Amino acid sequence: MAASPRQKPVFRFAPSPNGPLHLGHALSAILNHDMARAADGRFLLRIEDIDQARCTPEFEDGIYADLAWLGLGWEKPVRRQSEHFAEYQSALQSLIDRDLAYPSFLTRGEVRAFVSASEAGRKPWPRDPDGAPLYPACDRERTVADRRRMLESGLKHAWRLDIERALTTIPGRLDWTETGDGQTGQIAADPAAWGDVVLSRSDAPSSYHLSVVVDDALQGVTHVVRGLDLFHATSIHVLLQALLGLPAPLYHHHRLITDDAGRKLAKSEGDTGLAELRAKGISAADLRRRIGL
Ligand code: GLU
Repeated sequence: MAASPRQKPVFRFAPSPNGPLHLGHALSAILNHDMARAADGRFLLRIEDIDQARCTPEFEDGIYADLAWLGLGWEKPVRRQSEHFAEYQSALQSLIDRDLAYPSFLTRGEVRAFVSASEAGRKPWPRDPDGAPLYPACDRERTVADRRRMLESGLKHAWRLDIERALTTIPGRLDWTETGDGQTGQIAADPAAWGDVVLSRSDAPSSYHLSVVVDDALQGVTHVVRGLDLFHATSIHVLLQALLGLPAPLYHHHRLITDDAGRKLAKSEGDTGLAELRAKGISAADLRRRIGL
């Protein structure tokens, strides 16, 4: 019997077209591309554009122009998340059907007000690894009838994971394999630190966490190479993979490029924007040196 052909490793660069790319994106894209090439693997580009209010076709075109300038070739067609909302919805529905997700009605402002009222003179409200307050329990604790009534009245709502209940369905310990620039080896996941994360937003029929795990699985991604700013989010991703029965890729969280004050680069500012550098006549080879490659 012929041996089955070896599955090629699959890497992806997954930017959001909500601003121009900067040096940090260049590092991510080049690492993915070069690691794929070294492993005789595939390099995919995915456009993470679920936030239709902030993502634009112009920024998307900028991504293609910047990556072409860097000399990176990617497989076509490119997957654009805005064309796959039905797939994220069906993953969400499977969690709702198992009673692992609930509708949440508080706006960000209402959460802030709730948290400051509860912190007044008392102990600090718990925060997630990015520093945002955990979502209060009020919506999770609603009765089925109450939830139904609120949904039927057309109130704007997101869907959130009931993290405690979700964890009770997972036998054993959750972890992931990490080879990046921070901690490496088997990393114990701590999804509870994030509280009841959003699975589908009130203004978009999915969320970053849900679409990223669904897409990585649908695209057969074997290696997730991205910045260390997403290291802790991996705890949520491996939990969602376990809940949805999806395979877990290997993870490599790379160093971040910082500005002169040591802060992580925000969307392109001045001389860190790839389009600006290109316009100044900097070569792709110069850029690789500038980011330490
Ligand atoms: N779309 C995310 C970003 O632009 C990256 C997602 C990922 O690599 O998992 O920050």
